[in-house]
Amino acid sequence: MKPDPRQHIYKRDNFTCQYCGWNGTTNFEQWLRGCLSLDHVVPVKHGGKDEDANLVVACQVCNKLKGQEKCSSVEEGKEIIARKRAESERWFEKYVLKKLEK
Ligand SMILES: [Zn+2]
Repeated sequence: MKPDPRQHIYKRDNFTCQYCGWNGTTNFEQWLRGCLSLDHVVPVKHGGKDEDANLVVACQVCNKLKGQEKCSSVEEGKEIIARKRAESERWFEKYVLKKLEK
């Protein structure tokens, strides 16, 4: 695992996911599972710049859920994540839990 050269952003955001508030510094196992990354608030695909002002710390879950969807702010990102999270939960209940019932 190579250290990200943009460590100052992790420091700025206090190693905390800016979407869900998950803090990666509590202990090593937690940190591994939630593995923090940097997210482009406005995705590069939608014209977002690769600069500090457009980068925030995000946990794996939030980063994955947010994906490449069009987004213009952290607040909008939170809404996208909440919506996709609800969709995933329905999917989980429908396919995963149902499978367990059989
Ligand atoms: Zn998160």
